[in-house]
Amino acid sequence: MTLLQRSSSPAHPAWIEVDLQQWRKNVSIIRSHIGGSCLFCLPVKANAYGHGLCEIGKAAMNAGIDYLGVAHLQEGIALRNAGVQLPILVLGAIHEDQILELIRFNLEFTISSRFKAELVAEKCRQFSQKCRVHLEVDTGMQRTGVRAVTASALFEYLKTVQCFEIVGIYSHFATAEKPEDPFARQQIALFKTLLASPPFQKHPLIRHLAHSAGTLFFPEAHLDMVRPSLVTFGYLPKGSPPHFHQIAPCFSLKAKVSYFKVVHAGEGISYGHSHVTKKQTRIVTIPVGYGDGFRRALSNKGSVLIRGRRFPIVGNICMDQFMVDVGDQEVYVGDEVVLIGKQGNEEISLSEVATLCDTIPYEILCLFNERIPRIYKT
Ligand SMILES: *Cc1c(COP(=O)(O)O)cnc(C)c1O
Repeated sequence: MTLLQRSSSPAHPAWIEVDLQQWRKNVSIIRSHIGGSCLFCLPVKANAYGHGLCEIGKAAMNAGIDYLGVAHLQEGIALRNAGVQLPILVLGAIHEDQILELIRFNLEFTISSRFKAELVAEKCRQFSQKCRVHLEVDTGMQRTGVRAVTASALFEYLKTVQCFEIVGIYSHFATAEKPEDPFARQQIALFKTLLASPPFQKHPLIRHLAHSAGTLFFPEAHLDMVRPSLVTFGYLPKGSPPHFHQIAPCFSLKAKVSYFKVVHAGEGISYGHSHVTKKQTRIVTIPVGYGDGFRRALSNKGSVLIRGRRFPIVGNICMDQFMVDVGDQEVYVGDEVVLIGKQGNEEISLSEVATLCDTIPYEILCLFNERIPRIYKT
């Protein structure tokens, strides 16, 4: 296996490893589930959930992905500047001052109200532009999107304005992670009823609804395109059917031990001395902190792996480093430390970390910033 490090990044004692082989495997498992004729849109917002926006965008081009989704204009521009040529849909609500750039960078975008549609129409009229848009319908998330009852009228309006090429229509699930909750089925029913109504019959449209949980649990919601992201990175919603169990994470957070010392009994560790040693022990320092996005909430709660063993984080996590108690084990400066991921037979899973931080895996992934270089296993 080859390890490709970004040539621009200088040697750094902490890094995120992204296993693109596993990622492609995850994508192909989802592809076989959705079938060959369903389009596959990969949302790569928030730096591709921490995995690297442009690297994942480029990898998507050779992995059978048909579309990319982003939250914001700037993410679309970054992908275009990196040479990504796939269709890109901006999922978030757009703003007036973004319209011309959305068009200039060949980004498809979302029309979520009559107000936004008129802003776009006016800009396009002024500058003689055309645009490719998807109509967003709110079927129960109360976030963005026109209500189902007014969707037909907005669609009819879009058809009357020359500048709009209406490419798709979509909605978003609110509760599909809990398939036993009947609400997801109500959303599917509402969306399908709308799509079956006369205005949407004659017009070719990409109809899409399902994110990760929707894609896995509700095949009837696949329609013409799915938009799963988290699951491509290897994190399955609870209760996923067994044929998805080959899907595995492709993200690991690693570092090198940067310091070692023997500490006597009764010594306080780190800011505030929130941990006091009970007996003489060996303390190592790890060069990662909340300034990298490693949550301070893991202070005195989280663990790391060194030499295939699990050791506790002791004391408060600092901005750039934290301490680990390795007891009487032999550990050396330079040893590889796994903060998230596998080592030997041990694993610190993302869900373990998320649970300790009282949050969801999505949030933990998004917090890692550009101070930690990403290394890609291709
Ligand atoms: C983020 C997002 C997705 C992907 O969600 P996952 O749960 O990661 O699959 C799909 N659709 C929209 C509109 C999104 O904002």
